[in-house]
Amino acid sequence: MIALVSMASPSWGALSGGRLDPQALLAATMLLRDATDVTLLAHINPDADALGSALALGQVLRRRGATVRVSFGWPRVAPSALAALDTDGLLVTADEVPATPATLVVMDTGSVERLGPLGDRVAATIEAGGQVLVIDHHATNTYFGTHNLVDATAEATAVLALRLIDELGEVLTEPVARCLYAGLLTDTGAFRRATPSTHLIAARLVEAGVDTQAVSRELMDSHPFGWLGMLAKVLDGAVLEPAGARGLGWVWTTVSREQARGLGIEEIDSVIDLVRTTREAEVAAVLKEIEPGEWAVSLRAVARVDVGSVALGLGGGGHRLAAGFTAVGEPEDIIPRLRAALDAAPLLR
Ligand code: AMP
Ligand code: MN
Ligand code: MN
Repeated sequence: MIALVSMASPSWGALSGGRLDPQALLAATMLLRDATDVTLLAHINPDADALGSALALGQVLRRRGATVRVSFGWPRVAPSALAALDTDGLLVTADEVPATPATLVVMDTGSVERLGPLGDRVAATIEAGGQVLVIDHHATNTYFGTHNLVDATAEATAVLALRLIDELGEVLTEPVARCLYAGLLTDTGAFRRATPSTHLIAARLVEAGVDTQAVSRELMDSHPFGWLGMLAKVLDGAVLEPAGARGLGWVWTTVSREQARGLGIEEIDSVIDLVRTTREAEVAAVLKEIEPGEWAVSLRAVARVDVGSVALGLGGGGHRLAAGFTAVGEPEDIIPRLRAALDAAPLLR
């Protein structure tokens, strides 16, 4: 306990690997220090890292006296487990986001397109003389802000948000720590991908009072009964292609709108985490029907195939081992395209 308390203000240079550009960090800190009206945006279909980071930073800025709102382009409301992180009532729907925000902060979002219908706010803010701060950890980030705090070595955007909170000299309260913990937990695959600094940061968050068991249960281990029936069908339809993905094997399945009826996005997004455990496959893919004839594809690799490059080549993006893209058509068209892309995928080592 004593060691953790004395760790409350760690040396970030040592913790983060020091990959953040000091000038970008200073500029971002100054921008937030002076901002009086801040709109924070997460990417469409927001996850715990995007929304948790935005809510954490939003709560801190609200406490400093700024007018703060947090939103995302799609869907209309956040999954209930994420909405529960919004203890200060900062969330607004996309149509409540001002046409020209004074200061715009875009979190965990690699490109303007990933903001969906709110993407136009980036240009609108800049044209009106406002500032756009991009805070992200995607290697594919396009640096579309006036300020860009991007570190592809960061395990989660939540880590960058915490760094800014520290730079602002703000105390880490439990609700803020809970939002950050949610992002860190989910983006590291429940600490499967973690460095010493990941655990040191987690220790700070837990020290601030986060109920880790409750957060994990709510975000990762809680689904309606109908989820079981959907899984039974979707997993039964999984296909293993041992010779695919450059001979390393890949496994794929599809979730149709019919199979997903009545279930939340978080239930559908959970499928990839089961499919990717297939021992015979280096790569896993799940095609999720978002509109008739339009599919969001999740890609995961164990260690060897750069699915980030594959996704980028198919119009999406992401990280080397976790990426995605959206495709129009039917699985019969999309799977051969993906198969061919995986057969030509760059190997990581
Ligand atoms: P998901 O499979 O939806 O959990 O996404 C995995 C990773 O890929 C995340 O880091 C996403 O930000 C990224 N990603 C997913 N879909 C897209 C897309 N259509 N365009 C760009 N990046 C994406
Ligand atoms: Mn994300
Ligand atoms: Mn993230």
